[in-house]
Amino acid sequence: MKIVELIVPCYNEEKCVALFYEAIVDVFKELQSYRFVITYIDDGSKDNTLEEIKKVVSAAEEGTVQYISLSRNFGKESAIYAGLSKSRGDYVALMDADLQHPPKLLIKMIDAIEKDGYDRATARRVSRKGEPLIRSVFSKAFYHVINHVTVIDLISGSTDYCLMRRNVVASIVSMGERERFTKGIYAWVGFKNKWIEYENVERVAGKTKWNIRGLFHYAYSGFVAFATTPLRGIVYLGMIITFVAFIYAMRIGIATLRNPLVPRTGYASIMITMLFLGGVIITTLGMIGEYLARIYMEVKNRPIYIERETNIDSEQESEK
Ligand code: UDP
Ligand code: MG
Repeated sequence: MKIVELIVPCYNEEKCVALFYEAIVDVFKELQSYRFVITYIDDGSKDNTLEEIKKVVSAAEEGTVQYISLSRNFGKESAIYAGLSKSRGDYVALMDADLQHPPKLLIKMIDAIEKDGYDRATARRVSRKGEPLIRSVFSKAFYHVINHVTVIDLISGSTDYCLMRRNVVASIVSMGERERFTKGIYAWVGFKNKWIEYENVERVAGKTKWNIRGLFHYAYSGFVAFATTPLRGIVYLGMIITFVAFIYAMRIGIATLRNPLVPRTGYASIMITMLFLGGVIITTLGMIGEYLARIYMEVKNRPIYIERETNIDSEQESEK
């Protein structure tokens, strides 16, 4: 029997953990020929998420519910990495704990992989109903820009909710970067992907962990993680400024040769050039600094997550 493993990052989701389990049990009643394993990743929750998970573990059939509890809040991307690197299922799914990712789609996803021969199936929201307008606008703009400046191609509305074959999981785990922009990583590894569309669903309980600042940071780091275009942009900008400066220098030179005795007051032009170039220099230095900071973080080679406790026994893991 094939095992479908569901990786569920949870950060302060005490209300959702049990509801999630029930919803999954429901769906797998229709998928009798598969066995499911849920792996909850407690991403350093401050509420009773871990206790709730343990309750589900003891109520569920032996071996169907696993958990990894991280030593602090590492962020969703790191939590997913923790789950993926420990996963053993034949198919692995990533799902949010808040049931915004309809479990029923799993049926279509399994079909896409088994019947149509895809390597993975990813859910895509076709509506953003129930989402604040500003968030949709911002998100659309982000996809527009990132697709133009990076090698990866992201699709607006694509979610983290997906089901993939083992080999896809292995290739994602092999990308050990610390600054993990998962959407970019999925797009980068390639493979044959089928989009499965669905209508936006609101979370069942609890609160979203995102705010505008967090989203901005997410977009920004995704951009820096996959684009070196800004660096090339700096080079072009430098060339343009040099060219303009050259023309201007010629003009001043010729004018001076023609009328050497005319007194020239240059306050305005000097101020403007100085301030403009000062701004450009500081901005580009900052941009280079951004990339440098990332190199620094990667070079430190810190682990992507630290585990505090788990019920996944490692012997079983090494058998495989
Ligand atoms: N999450 C996490 N660590 C974090 C933030 C979020 O594991 O630092 C989990 C969260 O518990 C949920 C999923 O990531 O299962 C998506 O979070 P949320 O629902 O807040 O995001 P939204 O659906 O609003 O984009
Ligand atoms: Mg959510």
